[in-house]
Amino acid sequence: MAELSMHEDLPFDEATRPALVSTGNLPMHTEIRRLVTEAYELYRDDDSGAVADYIPVLAQASPKLFGIAVVGPWGRSFEIGDVETHFSIQSVSKPFVFALVCDTLGYEAARVRLGVNSTGFPFNSLMAVELNAERTMNPLVNAGAIATTSLAPGATLEEKWASVRERLSMFAGRELTINAEVYASESATNLRNQGIAHLLRSYGRLYFDPEEATDIYTRQCSLDVTAHDLAVMAATLANGGVNPVSGDRVIGPGVCRRVLAVMASAGLYELSGDWLYQIGVPGKSGVSGGIVTVAPGKGGLATYSPPLDAAGNSVRGQLASKYLAERLGLNLFASVPAQGSPPRF
Ligand code: GLU
Repeated sequence: MAELSMHEDLPFDEATRPALVSTGNLPMHTEIRRLVTEAYELYRDDDSGAVADYIPVLAQASPKLFGIAVVGPWGRSFEIGDVETHFSIQSVSKPFVFALVCDTLGYEAARVRLGVNSTGFPFNSLMAVELNAERTMNPLVNAGAIATTSLAPGATLEEKWASVRERLSMFAGRELTINAEVYASESATNLRNQGIAHLLRSYGRLYFDPEEATDIYTRQCSLDVTAHDLAVMAATLANGGVNPVSGDRVIGPGVCRRVLAVMASAGLYELSGDWLYQIGVPGKSGVSGGIVTVAPGKGGLATYSPPLDAAGNSVRGQLASKYLAERLGLNLFASVPAQGSPPRF
């Protein structure tokens, strides 16, 4: 496996070799707007799922909140509903911090130190650490995510935190700040994450002080974002690492595609296989109700709605993402257009 993944990026300019990258375009603007509105109307009254409460303050979120945002490869956005409501980013931060660490260490060194395989266990499982020799498993479960954060550039807690906040802000195209209430609530209840960090340390798979690494991780999860921000962050990953709104390069294209690979295999907790099977694009969800979906070369989609299924994925978010991924032609595995009207997928 090490051999296979040692290849560096091919030395050609991707912009001049379109045949070697994901193909196709989003539909016309009027069509995107119509479909986003349709998805919103279809699912806004679905009240299944339950708002997370294991971090006490998260339970205060209204179950009615629902927003959808699409950002295309030129930075144009199509949005509806509660897309300016602030919420803590939670696990949706994980792929973006992994991107920072890959960019710093190189994606091969990052794979060796963190792993990129699915655990088959819940996101905060200690059992997964005990049963798998890799321990960290991947950057999108808590063990791997805390280890990832421990590798963020910087020699001290504050330096590491500054590099995490700065890079996530570049992904969003604006300065992100902590939600103090969420940070306080999660800091007071994150004993399990502290336990994971100490366990990893005992196996030599955490690369900074356990308490400080957990603290930076908790800060990162408490960053306030909107659905609009998440769509811009997703669009940056869809755009080879260049933020399509600010025009800034945030990470290189080689890192970008590795981050997307991990999202495809582990982005939706234990239901990551179902997500890839049904929706066919990389995604990442978080317990506050956000989901980002990335269609390489086409754009980013973000949804926000707090009620979750049993695995921790937003219910309305999954429904709307599936509806839009099908109708916007996002599925990476589709090589022929869907047939009929309405289309059969
Ligand atoms: N900060 C949360 C935790 O570690 C993130 C959970 C999530 O969004 O999956 O418990």
